[in-house]
Amino acid sequence: PSVTDTLVALPSAVRTVFDTVQARNPHEPEFQQAVHEVLDSIVPVLERHPEFVSGGIVERLVEPERQIMFRVPWVDDQGTLQVDRGFRVQFSSVLGPYKGGLRFHPTVNLSIIKFLGFEQIFKNALTGQGIGGAKGGSDFDPHGRSDGEIMRFCQSFMNELYRHLGEHTDVPAGDIGVGAREIGYLFGQYRKITNRHESGMFTGKGVQWGGAEVRTEATGYGAVFFVQNMLAVHGQQLAGRRVGVSGSGNVAIYAIDKVHQLGGIPVTASDSSGYVVDDAGIDVGLLRQVKEIERGRIAEYAARRASARFVEGARPWEVPMDVALPSATQNELDELDASALIGNGVRAVAEGANMPSTPGAVAAFRESGVLFGPGKAANAGGVATSALEMSQNAARQRWTFADSEEKLRSIMSDVHDAAFAASERYDRPGDYVVGANAAGFTRVAHAMLAQGVI
Ligand code: GLU
Repeated sequence: PSVTDTLVALPSAVRTVFDTVQARNPHEPEFQQAVHEVLDSIVPVLERHPEFVSGGIVERLVEPERQIMFRVPWVDDQGTLQVDRGFRVQFSSVLGPYKGGLRFHPTVNLSIIKFLGFEQIFKNALTGQGIGGAKGGSDFDPHGRSDGEIMRFCQSFMNELYRHLGEHTDVPAGDIGVGAREIGYLFGQYRKITNRHESGMFTGKGVQWGGAEVRTEATGYGAVFFVQNMLAVHGQQLAGRRVGVSGSGNVAIYAIDKVHQLGGIPVTASDSSGYVVDDAGIDVGLLRQVKEIERGRIAEYAARRASARFVEGARPWEVPMDVALPSATQNELDELDASALIGNGVRAVAEGANMPSTPGAVAAFRESGVLFGPGKAANAGGVATSALEMSQNAARQRWTFADSEEKLRSIMSDVHDAAFAASERYDRPGDYVVGANAAGFTRVAHAMLAQGVI
């Protein structure tokens, strides 16, 4: 069955809204899944705040403020014309300019971009940094493309998107398939078209031209800080723990890096071909060499490291671990994976990726008492550091690495504490799903009421 078939019936307070979302967006399972989770969590908030109900907050929030879909034509190295599809969904600007990454991956479609944009609203609200929610991207597949092809694609993508962006309007950043190289080409084309070096219109820029220290590391580092915070509530530490990570992109690499620094043992990494397990601890330098520099497959890591083994076509969740950090992509960890993790005694799970756990997996973690940090809280460090980049751009300042990391650490504690406090306020102490959704939603809802029906 598809994930949407497994969604449980919602309480009557939010059921009609969800019915409308399903009727209006029939071919958008990921969007429905993301909306379902938020609606389910905020029922107690709506009970306590009748003004949110009469103000139609939920009905308004499930409809993006604006969605843009566009043609991206470009010519490949063989001289053949290619046409991809571009997206930007500007979900909510009530707390600040639209903010959220761009994803370039062949699986990208409207449903994926809308689920990501919807999640982004509450994640960004949780950071407390005054940023709205958006997401964009393309079904363009960067895999195996030359540098010139990547540049021409990025230029064509920006030829349309630029008119919808601006430092006070909409500020993109990276996501899967969009890193420093792509951001450089996208920013360059925006500068060329608009004749403005508008630093704050994009985050994740190179540190030599307006980028912020720690932005590259921030999502992965932040997810590990979040785990530290969850463990600390129970007087536990990360040091000495086995940590399983999925993925081998930007989030996974810097999560692994931070686990090492804090004395934990990162034992796995993965890509779509399978996973590697390395009981000596994943060597970050080698992982970066294989995945970032050579852009190769994860098996290559095991081929060059005696302590590592490659397992083809499987996911790392069968490996015994104390902490799991799913950091690859949506719905990469299902109910069976969750049972395997729980059976092996996992203590904490924090989502480095957006919505990596299926609803069945989330239910299993919550029922078994595993500490579970949902993505909109656990991976908020990336976008929070983007907001720090915007602050530095606006003030024409550059903060040091140490200062920036300290700010990230403190923002992650605040995110954790806001989610934890909300979980207590709504009588579900320690349930970070309810806590993160309730805390993020409440901030957005108050601002929407204050700004009127628009
Ligand atoms: N793509 C990241 C996320 O999912 C970062 C977005 C940003 O920095 O704007 O939150």
